[in-house]
Amino acid sequence: MLKLDQVEVGFGKNAIVDDVSFTLEEGEIGCLLGPSGCGKTTLLRAIAGFEPIRRGSIEIGERLVSSLAQQIPPEKRNVGMVFQDFALFPHLTVAENISFGIRKASSAEQAERVQQLLSHVGLAGYGPRYPHQLSGGQQQRIALARALAPRPRILLLDEPFSSLDADLRESLATEVRALLKSEGITALLVTHDQQEAFAMADKAGVMYHGRMLQWDRPYELYHEPTHQLVANFIGHGVLLRGSITTDQKVQCPLGLLHGDEVPANAAGEEVDVLVRPDDIILDDSSERRATIIGKGFRGAHYLYTVALSDGTQVYCMSPSHHQYSIGAEVGLRLNIDHLVLFPAGFCKT
Ligand code: ATP
Repeated sequence: MLKLDQVEVGFGKNAIVDDVSFTLEEGEIGCLLGPSGCGKTTLLRAIAGFEPIRRGSIEIGERLVSSLAQQIPPEKRNVGMVFQDFALFPHLTVAENISFGIRKASSAEQAERVQQLLSHVGLAGYGPRYPHQLSGGQQQRIALARALAPRPRILLLDEPFSSLDADLRESLATEVRALLKSEGITALLVTHDQQEAFAMADKAGVMYHGRMLQWDRPYELYHEPTHQLVANFIGHGVLLRGSITTDQKVQCPLGLLHGDEVPANAAGEEVDVLVRPDDIILDDSSERRATIIGKGFRGAHYLYTVALSDGTQVYCMSPSHHQYSIGAEVGLRLNIDHLVLFPAGFCKT
């Protein structure tokens, strides 16, 4: 349903989106993840037809919509869009907002679709209200209903939940996924929230400086990152260079590790070990010493950045009822029963 092949988008000399390729099958939900400024919105705008591409091609439903030679205008692409700031028309009622994109249909058809969508987004009866009489979450549901009304081939959502509070964001993400699935809509969502991406996506990609580092199922992104930055962005994973010892352990900056996954024939071989915050426990009695160099409050936990003796940084979580100061020396205990190893250099840095 959506196919990007080596897409480049740029302003002036700079390539903002660089050599991006991926596909989405009909009915799949995709997510673009990545740090601020990596080109997610620009890529979404190129798919919608608001930005020309300088190289490659974009196909929607096997129809070429963007290439160097031709750019089909946005209104002819059959693409729906939902933005961060809802962008409902304030002077129109909820029902009028929803029917805006289908105003050429008969009034009976419009009324039927409006009722159907209002009930799908859980706001039956809200048709006569005006946007300012709705909460933020309700407004975003109406923005979604409005975008779905013309039955677009693809729905593009740009950080649709980012102005909502965390609880609402999570429940809406789950609701919206169910709604998109029930309507059979193919959708691509931009977010910088990994939990939101995991709650919504069939496929997700991590972008960095305009490049797509990995496009995969969320499970693979988490468990089989092919890039150091993907491991880091998805769940604060760190890849540590190590080597396999003759007794099937791994020597790495965290010391000697052992697990059930060390390949039997690989003694002496260099590997990268994936270490996540859950794998490390702060334990003052441990002889493995490190220094706290950063901390972030996560509610029940603090996420600490700690520097090992050789300067390598790893992350760990620790219950927030006991907190450590930056600069404190701590002991680290490892809780890795399943080592995730890659051949050294397999993950790009
Ligand atoms: P965020 O998560 O902060 O929304 P993003 O990943 O969506 O970021 P983009 O909005 O796509 O990033 O911007 C990518 C880069 O392109 C930024 O450095 C931005 O300044 C630049 N950029 C975006 N639009 C234009 C433009 N019209 N002219 C020049 N540069 C632009």
